Amino acid sequence: MKNTSAVTVVGSVALDDLHLPSGYFENVVGGAATFASLAVSLFAPVRMVGIVGTDFPDSVLTDLAGRGVDTSGVLKSAGKTFKWVGKYAQNLASRETLDTQLNVFADFRPTLPESYRQASYLLLGNIHPSLQLDVLAQMDKPKFVAADTMNLWIDIERAALVRVLEKIDCLIINDEELRQLAGVHNIRQAAKIVRDLGPRILICKRGEYGALLFDDLGIAFVPAFPLETELDPTGAGDSFAGALLGRLAELDRTDHTALRDALGYATAVASFCVEGVGTKRLLSVTPADVSERLAAVRALAS
Ligand code: AMP
Repeated sequence: MKNTSAVTVVGSVALDDLHLPSGYFENVVGGAATFASLAVSLFAPVRMVGIVGTDFPDSVLTDLAGRGVDTSGVLKSAGKTFKWVGKYAQNLASRETLDTQLNVFADFRPTLPESYRQASYLLLGNIHPSLQLDVLAQMDKPKFVAADTMNLWIDIERAALVRVLEKIDCLIINDEELRQLAGVHNIRQAAKIVRDLGPRILICKRGEYGALLFDDLGIAFVPAFPLETELDPTGAGDSFAGALLGRLAELDRTDHTALRDALGYATAVASFCVEGVGTKRLLSVTPADVSERLAAVRALAS
C-alpha cells in the first residue's frame, strides 16, 4: 500500500439478524466499525477499534486482516457479541429495529494501542457518544475527525452528543436524524443549525436520493448509484463514511476539492455494500471495481 496517512475507526462490531425481502439471515457479520474499516481499507491503512464476544468467528478477523485492516485494537471478551435485529420493508427503503442486544458492548471501555493514537484521521462510528468522546480523548493530534450517529443517541444522549459535535470537523448523518437533531424539517436550515454546534462540514445521507455536503464553500451533491440488484442496505452508511475518510487519508488533504472528490468515492463504495448480504460484497471489492463504479457515478451527473 502507498505511504498514506492512517485512519483509526471505532464503532460496533456485530452479529446481526436481518429480515430482508430475500429471506431471514442470522448472525450476519456487521457493525459500524466492520463496514467502515473494510471501506477505508480500499484507500488507506486502517486501525479498527471494537469489541467482540467469544461467539465471534476468528476467521472473520483473519479476513479483515487479509484486507489490510489492523485488528489489534479489537478486544475479545467473555460473553456474546453485540447484536442488532433489523427488519426491512419490501422496497428496502425503510427499516425497523426489532432488537438491540449490547452484550459485551455494555462494558466496553476502549484503550487504543499507540499506533492507533498517532493516526491523522479518525472516524467515530455509530456508538454511544461518551465512548466516541473517550476515543477522541486518547488520540494524539488527529488532523481530521468525522463522526456518525443515530436516532437512539439523539433521543437519549443529546448532551453527550452535543459535546461530540463541539469537537469534530465533520458530521455524517441521514436526513431524518438531521431533522431530529436540529428540530426543523428544512434540510438547509437543519444543516446550518447543526454546523453552528461545531462541525464545519456536514454530510447528509438521503438514501436513494444521494447525499449533500455542506461546508464554507456551499453545497455539493452526489447521486446514489442506481443498482440493478439491491440485497441488503445494512452498513451502507458506515461504508460511505469509511470510504470518505479513506479517500481523504489517501490524498492526505481535507480541502473543499478533496472533500468533493471523496464524496464520489463514498457513494461508489456504499453502492457495493448493498449488493451483498452483510459484508459479503465489500470483502471482494477491488480498487479497480471502485474506479469503474466511480466513473459510472460521475457519468450520472454529467
Ligand atoms: P447502517 O446500515 O450503516 O446504519 O449500519 C448498520 C450497522 O449498525 C449494523 O451492522 C448494526 O450492527 C449496527 N448498529 C445498529 N444499531 C446500533 C447501535 N445502537 N449502536 C451501534 N451499532 C449499531
